[in-house]
Amino acid sequence: MTHQKDSIERMTVWHAALPVRSARDHGSGLVADKVDVVVIRLETASGVFGFGEASPWAVFTGTAEATAAALDRYIRPVVLGADPADIPLIMADANRAIAGHTEAKAALETALLDCRGRAMGLPVWALLGGRYRKEIPLSISLANPDFDADMDLLDEAWAGGIRMIKLKTGVQSHAFDIERLERLRKAYPELNIRVDYNQGLQPFGALRRLKDVEQFKVTFIEQPVPGWNHEAMARFTAALETPILADETVFSPGDAHKAVKGRLCDAISVKIMKTGGLRRGMEVAAIAESAGMPAYGGDMFESGLAHLAGTHMIAATPNISLGCEFYQARWYLEEDILREAFPCDNGKVAVPEGPGLGFDVDLEKLAHYAADTRQ
Ligand SMILES: [Mg+2]
Repeated sequence: MTHQKDSIERMTVWHAALPVRSARDHGSGLVADKVDVVVIRLETASGVFGFGEASPWAVFTGTAEATAAALDRYIRPVVLGADPADIPLIMADANRAIAGHTEAKAALETALLDCRGRAMGLPVWALLGGRYRKEIPLSISLANPDFDADMDLLDEAWAGGIRMIKLKTGVQSHAFDIERLERLRKAYPELNIRVDYNQGLQPFGALRRLKDVEQFKVTFIEQPVPGWNHEAMARFTAALETPILADETVFSPGDAHKAVKGRLCDAISVKIMKTGGLRRGMEVAAIAESAGMPAYGGDMFESGLAHLAGTHMIAATPNISLGCEFYQARWYLEEDILREAFPCDNGKVAVPEGPGLGFDVDLEKLAHYAADTRQ
């Protein structure tokens, strides 16, 4: 089949606020009652459409208001009239049109891939080179200031087949972190526990705390110190038996290169919201692989739509082998915006087989939660 030219004729941008079930304290920021996402829908002259999500977090990558403006004002002109098959070219134009705004670019590339997959009758993972895995082990995060509520959540998750959790540490006292780890280990000796400090420790005295955490045989310790502090990351990576996972230290492929070269970590968390899209996420994973480091499928405060983009990327990327944390659509949001439930069961995310992302967005739900719509 030769290439049939098409052109993008419409772009709609929604800023939606999605209610959540409980508070989440991550040290770098508290999420109380809702999360903000920005959704775009592209439509072509031949009537093909595609959706993508930006999941900014004000304390991490940026605000939803800025993301909506980046898409509406700066990215829209490079998208309208473009052939949706020219994904690398459109992304290069978007990168020239506006600096930063990686979440907006992740939404754009997701929508382009969704469009393209629907037009060709292929899942997004097939467009990314093909499928390596059909399911991805799923981790849920425990970050409720009320730990009894988190234990109830874990009981429910364990009954549902979840065997992997991430405990958010470094927010309250070190004693509270150790107490929670003791309770978790006692209740679930076989649980695969990961801890994430979200940059919460000062390097002074941190090594002693991290050695206390090591006793609980956690799988990895994520981002103990601020992302910029490469010296401290390298020192803890060398000093600890437990692998160190870099999150805030590595956004881009260039950051991944520095992490590999300076041995700043033992593994890297790949998030499309940090890299600015799925293909750049795969580049980060490839750079990690070149140094023998595995990668992990991280996320932000996302709906099922962004989870789907990450799922297709991980499906096509062998080196993202440490599982994923796409739990929010099913375990955290009051209601997701997908028409059918995000596909996870028995502790695993099932890689979709339908064209594009394989799922449709419920436009009525989106309109219901939208604070602002631009077209
Ligand atoms: Mg993290």
